[in-house]
Amino acid sequence: MVVIGLGRFGSALALELMRGGTEVLGIDGDEDIVQAHNSMLTHVVRADSTREATLRELSVPEFSSVVVAIGGDIQANILTSSLLLKLGITNIWAKAVSDAHGEILTQLGVHHVIYPEKDMGKRVAHLVRGAMQDYIEIGENFALVKTAPPASLIGIPLAEAKVRAKHGVTVTAFHRPGLGWSYTSLDTVIADGDVILIAGQSERVEAYSLLR
Ligand code: ADP
Repeated sequence: MVVIGLGRFGSALALELMRGGTEVLGIDGDEDIVQAHNSMLTHVVRADSTREATLRELSVPEFSSVVVAIGGDIQANILTSSLLLKLGITNIWAKAVSDAHGEILTQLGVHHVIYPEKDMGKRVAHLVRGAMQDYIEIGENFALVKTAPPASLIGIPLAEAKVRAKHGVTVTAFHRPGLGWSYTSLDTVIADGDVILIAGQSERVEAYSLLR
């Protein structure tokens, strides 16, 4: 995997890929940034990704997946994405900083356009409004939420609590201090102090997380 642009977003992404066992070639135009990542990625090089010859010298065309994580310099982001398409990379992920920027990338043919700031802003809106500890929108108005269980769920088997029939949400997993995360079954009994992971329509899971 190649990550171009090792700013805050690109750096976090590259390090997480490494943690998961993926080899990463990091490219950035800034010498200090390259130095800071030196022994942390499989390879790190200082280079300008808007130059086709440079990308070829670095064997970028041999990689199937490349992430363009340049944010501030939209021109460099678009030029790099366009060159990667020209080089035949089959799986390009590019960060967009605005809807207009994202539209240009989509029109160019970039396979995955991502909006980290916008997505995080939307996600945090759900967290600050409700009592959720985490909120992940899966798509089409469906979400996964980590939250404390309401009193009505504590001490009785899930089958009897009838959460799905009454509230339209499913308790998929739970966390118990000292035991970690487990899947739920119909006879799981949620205890005070547990944390639950619920799935359902966005409004339903949000409403359920507000129950105490
Ligand atoms: P973030 O908001 O995630 O911190 P930035 O846009 O601030 O993102 O950082 C992007 C990184 O991309 C910077 O470290 C910058 O040096 C690098 N960068 C910008 N243009 C190029 C380019 N043409 N070639 C290589 N790296 C670049």
